Amino acid sequence: MNAPVSIDILKQHLIDPEICIRCNTCEETCPIDAITHDENNYVVKADTCNGCMACVPPCPTGAIDNWRTLLRADAYGVDEQLTWDVLPTQGAVPVATLATENAGASDIIEPGPQTDTVRGSTVPPWSAAKPHVNLYTHKAPTTATVVGNYRLTDAATDSAIHHIVLDFGATPFPVLEGQSIGILPPGASADGRAHHARQYSIASPRDGERPGYNNVSLTVKRVVQDHDGNATAGVCSNYLCDLKKGDVVNVIGPFGGTFLMPNHPNSHLLMICTGTGSAPMRAMTEYRRRRRLKGATGKLMLFFGARTKEELPYFGPLTNLPKDFIDTNLAFSRTPKQPKRYVQDAMRERAPDVAQLLKDDNTHIYVCGLKGMEDGVLQALKEIAEGQGLDWDALWQRLRKEGRLHLETY
Ligand code: NAP
Repeated sequence: MNAPVSIDILKQHLIDPEICIRCNTCEETCPIDAITHDENNYVVKADTCNGCMACVPPCPTGAIDNWRTLLRADAYGVDEQLTWDVLPTQGAVPVATLATENAGASDIIEPGPQTDTVRGSTVPPWSAAKPHVNLYTHKAPTTATVVGNYRLTDAATDSAIHHIVLDFGATPFPVLEGQSIGILPPGASADGRAHHARQYSIASPRDGERPGYNNVSLTVKRVVQDHDGNATAGVCSNYLCDLKKGDVVNVIGPFGGTFLMPNHPNSHLLMICTGTGSAPMRAMTEYRRRRRLKGATGKLMLFFGARTKEELPYFGPLTNLPKDFIDTNLAFSRTPKQPKRYVQDAMRERAPDVAQLLKDDNTHIYVCGLKGMEDGVLQALKEIAEGQGLDWDALWQRLRKEGRLHLETY
């Protein structure tokens, strides 16, 4: 009898091309250069990845958290992954084929469970409309014409946030609130490679910035400093903020298949954002505002944080929305002579009303903005839930599974 053969099974790390927004975060994060990309996809090299998981939490969409269990010899190669439009399905791996001495013929290795490192949902709400994704790629981008570019923040502030409207003319570009698009800035980086696409959430509803028009809006902050506070000019944000009416930009996308709003009219939206993370909240709120006229009854509750009132994008239009339509709570962190206040502080102040929403199966939660807010917001949700006698861990798992907790932070 042959000696037992070792079972060389691989839990292969893959990136879902349908969900990935090509933001380059994973490639930047990977400590051992196991992630690469071309004009089409971001992919993981099976022979380099050591499963350290460093790339998983920073991924804004959860596209990174996909795994297939298969024989190492059958691992998907980079070239093959680069051609994918969808992930392959998980096949069962029959242990019998591995010729182990003791394996019974019916032994099957089931695909491993998804890791718990992605803290939000990786599925959309059950009633979300079906999104179109990847209609335009690096290889075949489309173009849009700038029809508006307005500064949203007070000219006296350091923070220049722009509202930019792009029109696709006769080119089909169907989008849903919560999706994003990629902008291809002209030029190349220091290594001579073309700049990779920068991704921006769409700030307008599915039927257009102006209803019935084939256009989208973006909320873009001019980047003038890096994360350490050193002066730098963000490639794409400066390009976008400097655009003039009539300029033409190269666009890819749309991207994103999970951070989508529910379509059933009695669904509630609990929206928590900071700074330009308000873009998808604006899209959802405006869609609901238009739909309200047609009978949507669900509640909208918004927590929105910015440094000051003058730096809060859409301050005027937001504060003009009727109180019976949206329950808006603002938190400013740098108002002179005032204590620092973050969105999670505002949430705690409204604990009974937030808890009321948490108890309702029709509530969908959206968090968008700075990476740093994610821990604080989840902690606040936990405290609020537990303060009302809810089992947060069980509720959290249910929210994730049911596509009701969406986190998009950078
Ligand atoms: P920002 O002005 O730097 O910060 C906004 C507010 O968040 C400030 O009040 C800030 O307070 C506060 N904050 C900082 N740390 C926090 C924490 N741990 N918990 C809660 N609040 C905290 O924000 P921004 O420059 O606009 O950045 C927004 C983020 O959204 C960016 O990371 C961007 O990539 C992301 N985003 C943008 C889009 C888009 O379409 N443009 C879409 C999705 C996400 P301090 O006074 O302490 O700084």
